[in-house]
Amino acid sequence: MAAKLEYIWLDGYKPTQSLRSKTKIEKDFSGKLEDCPLWSFDGSSTEQAPGGSSDCILKPVFICPDPQRKEGYLVMCEVLSSDGTPHESNGRATIQDDDNDFWFGFEQEYFLWDPETNKPLGFPAGGYPGPQGPYYCSVGANNAFGREIVEEHLDVCLEAGLNVEGINAEVAAGQWEFQIFAKGAKEAGDQIWVARYLLERIGESYGVSINWHCKPLGTLDWNGSGMHANFSNTTLRTAGSEDTYKKILEAFRPVVAEHIAVYGADNDQRLTGKHETASIHDYSYGVSDRGASIRIPLYTVQKGWKGYLEDRRPNSAADPYKVAAVIIKTVKSAGV
Ligand code: ADP
Ligand code: MN
Ligand code: MN
Ligand code: MN
Repeated sequence: MAAKLEYIWLDGYKPTQSLRSKTKIEKDFSGKLEDCPLWSFDGSSTEQAPGGSSDCILKPVFICPDPQRKEGYLVMCEVLSSDGTPHESNGRATIQDDDNDFWFGFEQEYFLWDPETNKPLGFPAGGYPGPQGPYYCSVGANNAFGREIVEEHLDVCLEAGLNVEGINAEVAAGQWEFQIFAKGAKEAGDQIWVARYLLERIGESYGVSINWHCKPLGTLDWNGSGMHANFSNTTLRTAGSEDTYKKILEAFRPVVAEHIAVYGADNDQRLTGKHETASIHDYSYGVSDRGASIRIPLYTVQKGWKGYLEDRRPNSAADPYKVAAVIIKTVKSAGV
């Protein structure tokens, strides 16, 4: 039977890139990445090429089954320019992690959004639900909104083979989180993007959109959405030395602007110093400190400075490829 390969890529819109995809039918398909041919698309419709020479190339880099489609596969792609070099919108190609020594666990937060009221699920058409407090990790029809979507998404991700580690209802009404962990920065980014794709597509069947903006309710007293980046490499996993951790953490201090540049649009609205965030202007770290830029998990200290770090600044709309790329660059620059 012919297979349906959904080629997925990121468009060239700034400052936030969106998912695009189209279906390729392949006869006698093996299911293997190496048997996914290069393909092309009209880059003039995605802000990736001028109309006069519009072809961009799709290079398959990750494949998994598409559990919601007969004979289906999801094929994550990098975008190349017509000369075969990585397109400037291609953050994945900038990751310097050839040996997959970096492990990433991303905590992806998002809002389930009602396109008709233009508010999160759980918000009445006029006004607001009760203030924050009961929604985080909640159960019950007064507090948890859209669980059927979240559950379907979890099942589909697991069936696709994505390494989801957990889900939870978040602090704001209609806000949820999933966590994905992978060994290798590219793999972690691929899995987050495919999981985002599946969530968007499942939302379609419920008439619910996914709001990835980091502060969709503005300055009101509602939490924003983050994408905390938990990371480690062999050094962090085995250091056994507070001094080594300090050297790595200090390497982040002079490059705050470079990090914030890829940590997602409008992050100044989210990183205010309130709602479990640090100010966008500061750089700080601390053990168990959820008000710091980078949190040192208690677990890491208890193991004798062996473990990982959590950069709490990336937001829900950030590109995990670019987040991983800059973290790897900065960790390596510490020279330990
Ligand atoms: P919290 O909400 O308390 O910040 P979560 O449990 O939501 O924490 O997320 C913690 C993340 O840290 C998980 O995604 C997990 O995979 C990740 N993680 C755990 N150990 C490591 C490690 N050694 N390297 C990278 N990430 C890790
Ligand atoms: Mn979490
Ligand atoms: Mn969270
Ligand atoms: Mn976290």
